[in-house]
Parts: sequence; structure tokens; C-alpha cells
Amino acid sequence: MKNSRFNVFVRENNGNELVYNTLRGSISRVNPELAQLLKSKDLAPLNNSSLVGLVEDLKEQGILIPPRLDELEEYAQMHRRWKEGRENVEFNALLTYDCNFECPYCYQGRGEKGQQIHGFKSMSPELLGATKKFIKKTTANRGARKLELVLYGGEPFLPGAREMGRELTEEVSEWARKNNIAFGLHVLSNGSLIDENIVQWLSGYRTRLQIPIDGDPEMHNKYRFYKEDRRGSFEDIARVLGMTRGTDVETHIRISLTDETYPTMERLLDELKSRDLNHVYPDFCYITSFTNACADFESHTLSDLKLFRIMPELWRKAHERGFPLDIRPQVQPLPCSSVADGSYIVDAFGEVYKCWELVGLKEHMVGRIDFDGNLEKTAVYEDVLERNPVNIEQCRKHAYLPSCGGGCVCKAQWQSKTYHTPGCGTEKYLLKDKIKVYTETLDLTDKPTTQAGSFRLQKIEGRQQPKMSHCYVLV
Ligand code: SF4
Ligand code: SF4
Repeated sequence: MKNSRFNVFVRENNGNELVYNTLRGSISRVNPELAQLLKSKDLAPLNNSSLVGLVEDLKEQGILIPPRLDELEEYAQMHRRWKEGRENVEFNALLTYDCNFECPYCYQGRGEKGQQIHGFKSMSPELLGATKKFIKKTTANRGARKLELVLYGGEPFLPGAREMGRELTEEVSEWARKNNIAFGLHVLSNGSLIDENIVQWLSGYRTRLQIPIDGDPEMHNKYRFYKEDRRGSFEDIARVLGMTRGTDVETHIRISLTDETYPTMERLLDELKSRDLNHVYPDFCYITSFTNACADFESHTLSDLKLFRIMPELWRKAHERGFPLDIRPQVQPLPCSSVADGSYIVDAFGEVYKCWELVGLKEHMVGRIDFDGNLEKTAVYEDVLERNPVNIEQCRKHAYLPSCGGGCVCKAQWQSKTYHTPGCGTEKYLLKDKIKVYTETLDLTDKPTTQAGSFRLQKIEGRQQPKMSHCYVLV
């Protein structure tokens, strides 16, 4: 047997170490003696009959593996399966570029820039029809068993877009039901136009709803205001969050961290808690200025290093106040759906993109749908899909690879003008903190501990099924 190349060690304050295996997703706690042995190349001390049970546990957690197992090849195969896989399809419908807000960091462009880039265009009825055909045709041709629909914009609940989103969802979900295909709905909205009826409708689909909040009421109102009268939206959003309490809507708030917002975060958490809104997942996120549309916001973005010092403390503070957290590291065959063959973003012009952040930028357009619901691909399509982190020098050598999937393709583009370089992001800086804080949130009293000689191992969580994460920039 040998050590897995994908063991990541995280030191705890008491000298013990957590071992997270990025390919298997297991979490274990080992004492300093065992940690030292596992980090060394010489595993001979484990060849002792009194340690058989311990060795079995280490194998079960994927920390020790058979001598000839090529784990990089195993990851490469998993990556390929998920990239080309036909099981799942994901369709993102950008129903309109129009919005009733005018947030300063909007990556799609606001004001005059928005006018130049997309003219606040909404889908036409013909394009909506073509999108429905495209979704059904593609799902059927691929023989997919699971279909996810994402509604977003602009603002998907603006009058006009709202009716289209409803029609699209109801028709596609009904078609999926008849064809025995599982259906899931995600919605990204600024929240301002959601009412009780919409919440009930979303609840019927067990929707994952994401609404941005940018800090305490004062700060949020500075960033997220109505275009028409510049009135802040905090009160309206808080009311909508209250409507989702006790429903089947899984509500996430996307909290943007900038130099201005992050000092107000504790006040925000207290404010939400005092309003009994701690059923929502607080997702602390990046604000980027990758695209020209939001380049003038660059001075407010935080450096990666600063951002990643702040986040673990915010998770702890949110946990202390009883908020659910979505921070468990995952085994990720792909960084996000942008490199999956069966994933598409259709915008209000019928143009198709792969990455949320690159929507509307013609040089990143991967195709266009026609009115019969067929996709005419551009050369960019294959270029994006060719991205394979196993072929990227830094990624193939890095133990983090299965937990980041090679990072954000958009970031790679932004930094190196190609899709084929590392796009190191949250995992690179935060993986160890995620493991640590996630473990702190668990009750470990009933987790089994194996003591053998001077070695001790606690199995905190076993192997996990791979999962594709949401875009970490936007969701
Ligand atoms: S993207 Fe960065 S963090 Fe991820 S494997 Fe590649 S080099 Fe490592
Ligand atoms: S994670 Fe990066 S590559 Fe993936 S959709 Fe988001 S911005 Fe695009």
C-alpha cells in the first residue's frame, strides 16, 4: 500500500491533524504520531499485526491505497465521464438583460454600458418557443435522466420575464415528468418583485432561490437600489426572505464581500437573526471585475488573500448565530458546469454561453439556437470543452485537484487569455479552512475512534459521491 496523493493535512489547535482526501471526500482526525507517519514515505511501521484494524480504516478512508493504483488517471476518467456524461443536463435561461436595480458591480453592464452591450433585451416569444424546443430536444437526444433549469436575468421576475419563466418552467417540468426525468429549478433574483404567490409557486418545485444581500441595511441600500428612484431595497428583500421561511424553497443569500461591505457583516447577521431569518444560507462570495462591464468597480474588490482571511471568521460567526452553512468541500469532477457538454446558458438573443460570467461577450459565445431548437456551435465550444486540468502542469501535481476541478475557467481567461491555465480560486485559499470550520460545526461525540499502539484515528466522515458545484463567482 501507499499514501494517496490526494491527502490534505490540516493542523488543529490541539496538535491533532484533520486529513481530507480530496478524491474520496473523506474526513479523518489523526494524532500527531500518525500524521507524521502518513506524511513520511516509509510506511513500514504499519506492517504490524496489531495495526491491522487501523490500516483497514485508513484504506476505507482512501488515505492509504493499493500500490499500483494510478489516482491521477482515476480522476482523469471521472473528469471525462462528467464532462461528456449524458445523465444530467442543465439549462440556464437568461430571460432578460433588463433589471429594476442598477448595482455598481453588475458584470452584465448597467447604464450606458448596458445599453451598448445588450440594450436590456428580453427574450421574444419566438425565442422562448425555440428555447423550449432546444431543452426538450437536447435532453431527449442525450437520454438525460435529470434536468435542471435555472432562471435568471437581469431580473427574471420583471413583468414579461416573469410570465416567460413561468411558462418555460411549467412546460418543461411537465414534459420531464411525463418522460420520467427528474426536474430541478434554481432561480437567481434580486428578490424585489417576489410576492407570496411566487414563493408558493417556487416552493412547489422545491426551488433553490438565491438573492443577493450586500451588507447591513445601510450598506445594502447603498449598493442595491431601485433604478427608478435610487431607493434602497433592504426592507423589501428582508420581507421576501421572511416569506420563504417554513416553505420548501431553499433560500441562499449571496453576500458580496468588498472593502466596504465586509466590515458590516456581523451587523447584517445580527439584523437577520433579530428578524428570525436564520433559515437562509449565507453564502459569502467574491465580487470580481473580470469583465469590462464592471471594470470601474475594481478598486472595491478585495485581494484573494484578504478575502480568504475574512471568510472563515464569517462562517464561524454565522454558525454561532444558528445559520446553516454550505461549506463542506466536495469531490468535484468539474469546477462548475461551464466545461460540461450538457450545460448551456441561453441568453435573450438566443446566443449560447458556457460560463455565467462571460455571458454577452461575443468572443466567448459557444453557439446560437435556431427557431427549431437546434444548436449551431462556434469554434469556442470545443476549445472550452478541451480544457482538462489533468493536462495543466500545476493542477496535475496539486493534491487539491479533485476539490477544485482545476478552478474557474473564466478566471483563467481573465488572467492568461486562454481557457487552458489554472483558475485557482476559493479552494486554493480556503480548502483547509473549510475543512476546519466544517468539522467544528459537527457533533463528533459518536464518531468512532481507533486506537492502535501510539496511533489514533477518528473517522469523521466517510467517502462522498462526486458532485458538481455551482459557479463560485455568482452563486
Ligand atoms: S486550479 Fe489551482 S488550486 Fe486547483 S488544482 Fe489547479 S493549481 Fe491547484
Ligand atoms: S466558476 Fe468560473 S468558469 Fe464556472 S461559471 Fe463561474 S465564472 Fe464561469
